[in-house]
Amino acid sequence: MSGAGPDWARVRADFPALRQQVRGKPLVYLDNAATSQKPQCVIDAVRQYYELHNANIHRGVHWLSEQATIAYEGVRKKVARFIGAPDPRECVFVRGATEGINLVAQTFGRTRIGKGDEIVLSALEHHSNIVPWQILCEEKGATIRVIPMNDAGELRMDEYAKLLSPKTKLVAVTHVSNALGTVTPIREIARMAKTAGATVLVDGAQAVPHQPVNVKDIGADFYIFSGHKMCAPTGIGVAWAPLALWNSLPPWQGGGDMISSVSFEKSTWAEVPAKFEAGTPNIEGVVGLGAAIDYLSAIGMDRIAAREKDLLAAFEAAILRVPGARIVGTARDKAGVASFVLEGIHPHDIGTIADREGVAIRTGHHCAQPVMTRLGLPATARASVAFYNTPEEAPLLEAALRKVTEVFRA
Ligand code: PLP
Repeated sequence: MSGAGPDWARVRADFPALRQQVRGKPLVYLDNAATSQKPQCVIDAVRQYYELHNANIHRGVHWLSEQATIAYEGVRKKVARFIGAPDPRECVFVRGATEGINLVAQTFGRTRIGKGDEIVLSALEHHSNIVPWQILCEEKGATIRVIPMNDAGELRMDEYAKLLSPKTKLVAVTHVSNALGTVTPIREIARMAKTAGATVLVDGAQAVPHQPVNVKDIGADFYIFSGHKMCAPTGIGVAWAPLALWNSLPPWQGGGDMISSVSFEKSTWAEVPAKFEAGTPNIEGVVGLGAAIDYLSAIGMDRIAAREKDLLAAFEAAILRVPGARIVGTARDKAGVASFVLEGIHPHDIGTIADREGVAIRTGHHCAQPVMTRLGLPATARASVAFYNTPEEAPLLEAALRKVTEVFRA
């Protein structure tokens, strides 16, 4: 990319899925918070892996296995650089954010959290950062406490301060809300948790694809994200923690690759990260993640963040021009997500009619039912942007929403 910044039209042209017509209309893809589209280079990297380098990793002495291992471990280094991790071994490959959080619950949680302990979550959490902790709490007799939010969707830091106590063993909070787009004050959340002696997990599923992230700078102990929301394939993600923390934890899943030696009497474990990567991993997913990181890095995460801020403003303005529209989630610091309602119209109807116009938005509780409950809504419609969206798509969303209102108010 030149110093003048990317040519966004050319960037968009990298995404074959965006060239298609849907229901006879040009596709306007605004479901990026659910999953991103994939650029040609990622698709090519996966195809090339199968055409040239497909083999199982770590175990083979033959050339192909060596090539696959080099590719796989090379991506670990890329991931580390991308998120500011001091050592690539700190980056454990998992299936996605959900599996990463479950990994932490089943290792850190099961060994460090006990009866009477407390886990602090926030009102903004995705179900993936609630349910693993509920399962753990049921087993251990621990309790979940929740940082409340205000009507704008911002966390109440004064209330958070009151929740912290010597009983707090873990604070697990999202970096960016998938339902409302709120960017949480994650550094401050982590700092306060550490001062209280708690361990910090950050769910970065909606942050890493949209802004520069430096895990050391944030001050988290665990930082988790998914590849498929950042132009990589599905089925791959990363769980980061400092090496010493990973080393202090027991393995989770048992099987091939995570052992040092096995006998029927006793087995011993491989070094981190292999200790947490049992079985044949998603090698193609890792290769695709590497290509996605190269692609995003070439554009620049700071440029992506700035572009998406402008796009979000354009899409929110377009939504608000529609009679009866209200944006849900009006935090001062927001990223990429415009949740909204149209007065008197169920969000599912909005989504269905918008789809007829070629506009793909998401409707429902967005796997964040407590957010909806707090706001007194059964569901919202959600337009979520990525850098490859265009300002010209904002009026197309507006036109689709106007069609919705015409159908319902005729
Ligand atoms: N956390 C947040 C904030 C999310 O938005 C999502 C997915 O939408 C997840 C966790 C779960 O990610 P995955 O389904 O990739 O495991």
